[in-house]
Amino acid sequence: MLKDEDRIFTNLYGMHDRSLEGAKSRGHWDGTAGILAKGREWIIEQMKASGLRGRGGAGFPTGLKWSFMPKESDGRPSYLVVNADESEPGTCKDREIMRHDPHTLIEGCLIASFAMNAHACYIYIRGEYIREREALQAAIDEAYDAGLIGRNACKSGWDFDLYLTHGAGAYICGEETALLESLEGKKGMPRMKPPFPAGAGLYGCPTTVNNVESIAVVPTILRRGAEWFASFGRQNNAGTKIYAISGHVNNPCVVEDAMSISFEELIEKHCGGIRGGWDNLKAVIPGGSSVPCVRGEKMKDAIMDFDALREVGSSLGTAAVIVMDKDTDIIKAIWRLSKFYKHESCGQCTPCREGTGWMMRVMERLVRGEAEVEEIDMLFDVTKQVEGHTICALGDAAAWPIQGLIRNFRDEIEDRIKHKRTGRVSAVAAE
Ligand code: SF4
Repeated sequence: MLKDEDRIFTNLYGMHDRSLEGAKSRGHWDGTAGILAKGREWIIEQMKASGLRGRGGAGFPTGLKWSFMPKESDGRPSYLVVNADESEPGTCKDREIMRHDPHTLIEGCLIASFAMNAHACYIYIRGEYIREREALQAAIDEAYDAGLIGRNACKSGWDFDLYLTHGAGAYICGEETALLESLEGKKGMPRMKPPFPAGAGLYGCPTTVNNVESIAVVPTILRRGAEWFASFGRQNNAGTKIYAISGHVNNPCVVEDAMSISFEELIEKHCGGIRGGWDNLKAVIPGGSSVPCVRGEKMKDAIMDFDALREVGSSLGTAAVIVMDKDTDIIKAIWRLSKFYKHESCGQCTPCREGTGWMMRVMERLVRGEAEVEEIDMLFDVTKQVEGHTICALGDAAAWPIQGLIRNFRDEIEDRIKHKRTGRVSAVAAE
């Protein structure tokens, strides 16, 4: 288990003072000007060496992403945009950073923006996060008042402005290009890529979009050293990570621990075990609602990192772990996610607009057992026609939970259809 002194987020539970004074007493904003004085190249090299992979779900190496930004301006300004939209069911980790440890993020914004030659940074926070927005804005105001950001930030000679903007509740605005559209005041609809944001992003200028946690860990990595951060987790899966565990565990929580911790250790140490014991574990969605579920028995020994979870047919995603015990109607649970993705589709591309509704309606009948067994394969086939055939990843996000269900719980779906037909209601979901 991660030692307390190795935690980056020292106020994740909100037990301490979240103000600037409190943050400074816990080591934040310490020597920030000195870090900037080491220069852009050094910062980006350190980030690469730390092995940090983006914490928003895709896991793209952060330092590498930063290096795609132009070194010299062609006359256009560069921007950093922080994605604080966090709208995926099950994911609630960035929220704890913003409401309890906001200065980690603000300091990270300054350093990351400097490294990418950006004098301005926008944080796009989801509309429903009202208290989080208030906490973050209060912290931004404090940082301005103390001269840590603004003109000559931290007396480094670097001018830096930080703006907090909120959305209006659309999940799709968490997709980076839809977020940029929304930030520009337009409808939040994803853009075709290329061009990628590093070439033409916000207002057509070079932009990097990073997740809150990815940016908030930056100052501590640079203060304590890339090797320190890289010492946690397995190769290619470095660092500490915030896990958000919900569902049927005895103590659902948001906690920071090392990458590559085993699922069993994570649940036993932080969540007081599975409700009803390990034999009662049915399924786990290990990385937020868009990744495929995994059967409980396969998950027990799984390692919580990008590569290991791919081996069990799923993904680390945002490390939002949704645990389901044997009381769960897994078909109904996945149907609920299908309903969510159907509702959130922006409607721009046909496979997603039509496919999400189609999949949801078939799922609805599978919940009731009112379908033909052959329709299971047909549904799987449709998920494959949606996956990878859309402008943004929402199509994949709608397809993968259903694929996970069919791969892992096909027997249950078939049983329900058969039992419905024979009049036995034991396997039929409660209305
Ligand atoms: Fe919109 Fe769905 Fe297409 Fe994404 S995949 S652009 S959400 S229609």
